[in-house]
Amino acid sequence: MATTVKTVARPAGLRRKLYLIAIIEGMWVTFRHLMKNWIGNLFGQRQKTDIATLSYPEEKKAYPERSRGLHRLMKREDGEVRCVACMMCPTVCPAHCITIVPEEAPSGSIEKRPRIFEIDELRCVVCGLCVEACPCDAIRMDTGIHAPPTLRRADAILDKEALLSRGETSIATQGGVGPFWREKVKA
Ligand code: SF4
Ligand code: SF4
Repeated sequence: MATTVKTVARPAGLRRKLYLIAIIEGMWVTFRHLMKNWIGNLFGQRQKTDIATLSYPEEKKAYPERSRGLHRLMKREDGEVRCVACMMCPTVCPAHCITIVPEEAPSGSIEKRPRIFEIDELRCVVCGLCVEACPCDAIRMDTGIHAPPTLRRADAILDKEALLSRGETSIATQGGVGPFWREKVKA
């Protein structure tokens, strides 16, 4: 089938050409809302329903349950960090903002743990891939906290202690429950 090109003429007319009318229409909407709020404020009845912005921080928006906040590292039942320094999260991180230096773990239950675990929250793009990649529920982003503002770049780098300070005990099975997880979930 032959392809044809249909040329659409540029709409003519003074109204289209004069942006002034569109500007006046836009300004009228702004002015209407301004007056509505101003009169409402005088009588203590500020309009609530069609205000798009909130008076933050007095008014705060409720975040969805699965929103991603500041990172935290989870702990084992003995209080030790759950991370086994498998390097999955720094490998998958698209922003290369996770630094892990592993060391041999003293206890017999795991072989490795992180000696250094740092996340540069300024470089983080909050994609959540580190949480998805972790095989042992060691890292979460469920704090509901924003990355705090900092004056120095170095202050935005959270170390192991800072990440563990919000950590709680996780009883997730290390590495999942294996290939028969459906049967185990049913049981
Ligand atoms: S949320 Fe994404 S960018 Fe941030 S540390 Fe995790 S993987 Fe990296
Ligand atoms: S993926 Fe999990 S266990 Fe592996 S290094 Fe990252 S936090 Fe530690």
